[in-house]
Amino acid sequence: MIKENNPNYKGLWAKYKKYEIVKIDNEYYIRPDKKADYEIYDIFDKEKELLVDFLLIGMEAMNYADINDANCDLMSTEKKYQDMILDFVNKYGMFGEFTYRLINSHIVSSGKALTQGYSNIDEMSASTYIKPYFIGNDDIQRIDFDHGLNPDILKYVYGNNNPNGDLAHRFDKGEDFSIVFSKCYTEKIANILVMSRALYRIFNSVENNNWTENEDKKAIYQKYANMFNPNNVAFSFNFENDKTYLNWNFNSLFQAIELILAFNETNERKEVKMCKHCLKPFIAKNLKSDYDTASCRNVANVYRNRAKNK
Ligand SMILES: [Zn+2]
Repeated sequence: MIKENNPNYKGLWAKYKKYEIVKIDNEYYIRPDKKADYEIYDIFDKEKELLVDFLLIGMEAMNYADINDANCDLMSTEKKYQDMILDFVNKYGMFGEFTYRLINSHIVSSGKALTQGYSNIDEMSASTYIKPYFIGNDDIQRIDFDHGLNPDILKYVYGNNNPNGDLAHRFDKGEDFSIVFSKCYTEKIANILVMSRALYRIFNSVENNNWTENEDKKAIYQKYANMFNPNNVAFSFNFENDKTYLNWNFNSLFQAIELILAFNETNERKEVKMCKHCLKPFIAKNLKSDYDTASCRNVANVYRNRAKNK
């Protein structure tokens, strides 16, 4: 949807070829497989699949958990949902929650982390912010991140004991991404479920807003849709092969997915749609189609005919 409109978009992200799920202190996390090699890919080469796969997780989370985040913790203990996240991450890499939540950069150099609170900006020490993203790694839990770079950070986070030095060198997005692409970096499954559910809710609201002709309902769907408040998106130009490219500098895969959703929903030729019967996101091969499968279309027709014949 973006790429077809503008083939000169690029948005590179890195992923390892294999990830694993680990259970630590009764919580479930995802992290790269210690021996996995990495690859760098352009998110715009698979933007529709990426969006649909993420929204499918969000739909499951919405059906399971409604609006209570604690239910996402319960959900994260079930293998079915862990496997959905694992499949997703094996295809597209980790989400970059670490950089998604930050509003400052160079966390290690500056020794502090800023995040957007409800109405104010929260400040915490770099150690406090960083360590929850290295769950299960005792060496990193002992490191002092509050006073700039030190030999332990070089050794355990960037260095020889953590063979992502080559990736950080080839895909240099700055020091904060050395953390996100570290082989010891972990993301909590429950948090991914919360994020995916929030985005599916936005998608569902925008799609419903387009369908409904009831003005009161429209107002409510628009109110939900307006809760969509993506992080700052930065971009730069890149000149290669006599072409001008727009390079999206995503701070995370989460942010890339938000952007792809926004482009999709505002596109007159929208390709990722919500099935009018089962509410699943799908890629519409025919832009006029409202249903993801023939069976959903048939069931919807039967209901419509019954309603007519009453
Ligand atoms: Zn359907």
